[in-house]
Amino acid sequence: MRVIVVGAGLSGLMAARECVAQGHDVTVFDKGRGVGGRLATRRIKDATLDHGAQFFTVRSDEMQTHVDQWLTAGVVREWCRGFSEVDGHPRYIGTNGMTSIAKHLAIGLDVRLSTLVFSLTRGDTDWIITTDDGVAHHADRVILTAPIPQSFSLMFGGGIEMPTELRNTDYDRTLGLLVTLDSNNHNVSSPGGMQFPDDVFSFIGDNAAKGISDTPALTFHANPDWSLANFDLTNREIHDALLEAATPWLGTSVVTSSEVKKWRFAIPKKLWPEACWVDDSGTLAIAGDAFAGPRVEGAVLSGVAAARSALA
Ligand SMILES: Cc1cc2nc3c(=O)[nH]c(=O)nc-3n(C[C@H](O)[C@H](O)[C@H](O)COP(=O)(O)OP(=O)(O)OC[C@H]3O[C@@H](n4cnc5c(N)ncnc54)[C@H](O)[C@@H]3O)c2cc1C
Repeated sequence: MRVIVVGAGLSGLMAARECVAQGHDVTVFDKGRGVGGRLATRRIKDATLDHGAQFFTVRSDEMQTHVDQWLTAGVVREWCRGFSEVDGHPRYIGTNGMTSIAKHLAIGLDVRLSTLVFSLTRGDTDWIITTDDGVAHHADRVILTAPIPQSFSLMFGGGIEMPTELRNTDYDRTLGLLVTLDSNNHNVSSPGGMQFPDDVFSFIGDNAAKGISDTPALTFHANPDWSLANFDLTNREIHDALLEAATPWLGTSVVTSSEVKKWRFAIPKKLWPEACWVDDSGTLAIAGDAFAGPRVEGAVLSGVAAARSALA
């Protein structure tokens, strides 16, 4: 079968790999310039910073199976077993940043980047996906893995129903600040990650302590309330407010560059009760972290579940 997957984040890549493993002809489209979606790693001069997901955990045997393969391939490694408190549960990271997981999963797949899917319609016998270069692609199965409001807008445009409860899925936002420094004389303590350290931030990541950056670099993520309250300020205003809030954590290090990152759809607030959603025809599936868990593991498990359901 011809399968089209929309989105080369974790759920889309896992779905695509499952479809390829079952012998199907799979194309993945993503509007981004690179794979990974919310697994995002950025280079600023000599620094490397994770600016989406910071680490991931394993809660199921199925996820452990995938992670064991990634460990063997050297794509991920354990970072620590807790931050302010050690609880014994491994926190894993991409060896060269979180995007390295997505890059690994994309090997051998037909992934078309910088390609926005802007319409999905039902043909007489198949699906028609139109991309922003005006090309109409035909598929027997379609798997949508964008954040739900984005998948909904594709479906709505094509007159395709989505359950009301699913389409109302809301997401927390995240405002982030990426900072490079002249030294590691900051106040982010070992092992280089701090969860909910104050009233503004939900996470501060020390990318050098994590082992992904050759030079000092911190990632600051504002908590959902702060991000919502400040999301519509100008980038300059957000930058200045985040930098002021970050200052106590910078110690005597001098900032050499700083920039803002905005995530409109960061973390789903409510989950759909199943690992994916499939339409009545059984040929259109929706996957993502709004299904099997609002985290890396959820995206992985949902992508695989969507592929299996759509191919059943
Ligand atoms: C700031 C932040 C911090 C986080 N921290 C953690 C953490 O520490 N641990 C953890 O486990 N999880 C964390 N998460 C959550 C985790 O990143 C996500 O759960 C997971 O990456 C979601 O993967 P996904 O494939 O479902 O969606 P995405 O990664 O969002 O992938 C969807 C893809 O679809 C593409 N797309 C959308 N619309 C279209 C279109 N019309 N045409 C073509 N392509 C399209 C997008 O470009 C994107 O690449 C964090 C997320 C954020 C934003």
